[in-house]
Amino acid sequence: MTNTHKTISTHIPGFPRIGAARELKFALERNWRGELSDAELEDVGRDLRARHWALQRDAGLDFVTVGDFAFYDQVANHIQLLGCEPARYGFQPDQPQLSRYFTMARGRGAANTHAAHADHDAGCGCGARDADALPAAAALEMTKWFDTNYHYLVPEFTPETAFTLACERLFDEVAEAKALGHAVKAALIGPLTFLWLGKAKTDGFDRLSLLDKLLPIYGQILDRLKAQGVQWVQIDEPILGIDLPAPWRSAFENSYWQLNQVGVPLLLATYFSPLEENLSLACRLPVAGLHVDGVRAPQELASIADWLPVHKVLSVGIVDGRNIWRTDLDAALAVLQPIVDKRAGKLWLSSSCSLLHVPFTLAAETALDAETRSWLAFATEKLAELNTLKQALHADAGADTALATSRAAIASRRASPRVHQQAVRDRLEHLPAGADQRRAHFAERQAAQRARFRLPNFPTTTIGSFPQTPAIRAARASFKRGDLSLTDYEAAMRAEIADAVQRQEALGLDVLVHGEAERNDMVEYFGEQLDGFAFTQHGWVQSYGSRCVKPPIIYGDVSRPQAMTVSWTVHAQSLTGKPMKGMLTGPITILQWSFVRDDQPRARTALQIALAIRDEVADLEHAGIGIIQIDEPAVREGLPLRRSRWTAYLDWATHAFRVSASAVGDATQIHTHMCYAEFNDILPQIAAMDADVITIETSRSDMELLNGFGQFRYPNEIGPGVYDIHSPRVPDQQEMVRLLHKASAVIPPANLWVNPDCGLKTRGWAETESALRNMVAAAHQLRAVY
Ligand code: GLN
Ligand code: ZN
Repeated sequence: MTNTHKTISTHIPGFPRIGAARELKFALERNWRGELSDAELEDVGRDLRARHWALQRDAGLDFVTVGDFAFYDQVANHIQLLGCEPARYGFQPDQPQLSRYFTMARGRGAANTHAAHADHDAGCGCGARDADALPAAAALEMTKWFDTNYHYLVPEFTPETAFTLACERLFDEVAEAKALGHAVKAALIGPLTFLWLGKAKTDGFDRLSLLDKLLPIYGQILDRLKAQGVQWVQIDEPILGIDLPAPWRSAFENSYWQLNQVGVPLLLATYFSPLEENLSLACRLPVAGLHVDGVRAPQELASIADWLPVHKVLSVGIVDGRNIWRTDLDAALAVLQPIVDKRAGKLWLSSSCSLLHVPFTLAAETALDAETRSWLAFATEKLAELNTLKQALHADAGADTALATSRAAIASRRASPRVHQQAVRDRLEHLPAGADQRRAHFAERQAAQRARFRLPNFPTTTIGSFPQTPAIRAARASFKRGDLSLTDYEAAMRAEIADAVQRQEALGLDVLVHGEAERNDMVEYFGEQLDGFAFTQHGWVQSYGSRCVKPPIIYGDVSRPQAMTVSWTVHAQSLTGKPMKGMLTGPITILQWSFVRDDQPRARTALQIALAIRDEVADLEHAGIGIIQIDEPAVREGLPLRRSRWTAYLDWATHAFRVSASAVGDATQIHTHMCYAEFNDILPQIAAMDADVITIETSRSDMELLNGFGQFRYPNEIGPGVYDIHSPRVPDQQEMVRLLHKASAVIPPANLWVNPDCGLKTRGWAETESALRNMVAAAHQLRAVY
C-alpha cells in the first residue's frame, strides 16, 4: 500500500495481555510461589509486550497500544499510577511497587487472597469478590468490568484520598515501545471512569468530589507522554454508555477542556453500549478524536459521523471485541463506506473495545473442525481483519484474497446444516402458548409437594456440589488423557456419588444432592453434551489476575441428543430413601458464560437452550426425580448496561427459565439457585420465574439481602444461605440460628429452607461436614420454636 492512500488508520483499544500460551498466568503463579523473581517476572512482561506490539505492527496497524498491559489488572495499574493506594495497607515508601501491587490484588495473610479462589468454578459469579476480610490486609474488592466477565480491582476513596504521579511503569512501557521503533498510542482509563469504578469507603462521601484533585495528575501524565513523543493518548470513558447521574455528565466538559490544554491529541474511547443521551456531549468534548462501539451501537454511527466536528478523528469499532465471530467484511464495508465519504482523512478503524475479552489466536486450535474454525476470529485474526478493511476502503487489491476467504466463510456459516436445524426451528415456532407456565398456581403446587415429600419445617439441603477432591480431579485428568477408561472413570464417579450420599444421610440432611463429582464446570458439562456447542483447546480469556476461563462457543441451533444427567441422578436416588434433587444449569447462565452466536437474537438462543433443559427436566421427572434445581446465578449479570433495556431482557430471560422449568406436574418441585447479587430492583422478575424454591447467597450480608424479598412479599419458598462457603471457617450452630431467626422475621417461617450460600466444590470434606452438622442442628433448633 502506498502512502498516498493512507487516509484511514487502524488501531485497537487494547490487546490480551495473558499471552498466546497463558505465559503471564504461569509466570505470575510461579512468582507468587516464590519460584520466579520479580526481575524475571518483569522480563516475562516485557517480552509479552514486545511480542504483542510486533503482532499489531505486523498486521498493519498504524499504532501500537501501550498501557493495556498489567500484571493483574489495568485498574490496579492506575491506582499506582495515580498514587492512591489505600492507606489501610500501611505501605512503607521503601516497599517495592510490585509487592505493594500484589498485596492490593491478593491481600496479605493466609485465607485472604483471591488466589484462594483460584480453583473456583470457571464461571461462578461468587468467586468474584474479596471473601474473607482481615481488616488490615484484605485484598481490594473485585467486581465485573461493565457487562464483561473480566473483574477489576475496585479503587477505594475517602475524603483523605490524595493523588500523585507515583509510578513510572506506563512511561517505561512507552519508552520500550519507542525503542522498538513503534508508533505509539498510549491508553489510559479516563478520570471520570476511574472515579466511577471506585467505591467511597466513608459513608455519604461523594467520590466525584475528588475530581479536582485528580485532574492535575492526569495533566502531569499527559505532559510526560507528550514529552515522550507519543502520537496519541486514548482515554477510556466507557461510563458515557451508561445511565449517568447529572453531576457526572456535567463534569465531562470541564475535565476534558483542562486535559486538552496539554496539547497531546486525545482519543476519547467509549464502548460496550450506545451513547444515547450522552451522544452530543461525546461529540462536542474538546478532544481530537472519539472512538465508538459500532458493534453494540451501529444505529448511532450515522449521527455521530454527522455531528462529530470534521476536524476530529472518528474511530469506528467495527470488529467485535466481545465475541469470536469472523467479521462479515462486506457488511462492515457497507456500513463504513458512507462514513468514509463524510470523514475524509479522519477515519480510524478499530475493534469495538479492547481485545482483552477474546482469546489470543485461532492458530492454536488444531482440534476444531475446519468449518467451524473458518467462522471464527480471535484477537490476532481480528487485527488482520482491520487491515483488510482498511485496504479494501483504499481500493487496494491486496485485500481481495482476504475478502474472498472471508466471504466464503460467512456464506458457509449462513448455510451450514450444522448451524441451522429445522427441527429446532419448528419447535420454537410451534411452542404452545402455555409452555412457560406451570399447570397450577404456586399455592396448589405447594400443597401437592408438601403432601408428597412430607418434609419438616426448615428443610435442610445444599446447593449442589460437594468437594471436588484431588482424587476426583486426578480421575478426570487421567480419563481425559486416555489413561483411565470410560467404564473406570464412571465407576470412580459413581463411588464418589455414593460417598456423598452416605455422608449426607449421616448428617441428617432432608433433601440430598448427588454432589456434581462428574462435572468439571457447570456450563461446560452441559455444553459438551448439547448440539450447537464447540469447545476450543486454548481459547482462554482473562477473568481476573492469573485466572482465565475458556467459554464454550454456541455456534448453532441448540438441541439435546440424549439425556445428560439422568443416569447419575437416578443412581444417586437409588442409594437413599430421601428425595434426591436433580441438578441442572439454567438457560441464561449457559448463555451468559458462553460466546454466543451473533446471527440471531440472544433471546432465541436462550429459548433453544431452555427447550433442551426442559427435556432434561421432563426426563428426570419421568425417572422418578421429584425435586429438580435449575441454577441461574447469571440472571443478574446479564442485565444490559442501560436501564431502558432491562425490561426487554428480563422478559425473555424469565420466559426462557420458565420454559425450562414448566414441563412438570404440580407435585414436582422446581428449585433455582442464584449467587450473591443485588436483587431488590429485579424482584418482580425473580418472582415471575416462579420457582417453587429459590436459594440465594445471604450470609455475608447478615441476611440483609432478604429484607427486599420480605418487603416485596416474595410469594414462593426461599432458602437464604446461612453460611459463607468462600471461607474454610466452620460456622457454629448459634450463628446460623441467629441468621434463621432474622430470616423468620421477614419471611413466613413455613416458607424457609436451610442451606449454605452456594456449592461446596472448593471446600474440603472435613470443614464441609462440620459446617453442615451445625447447620442441621440449627434447623432442628428452629423447628422447636416455630
Ligand atoms: N449447583 C452449583 C454448585 O453447587 C451452583 C454453583 C453456582 O451457582 N455458581 O456448585
Ligand atoms: Zn451460588
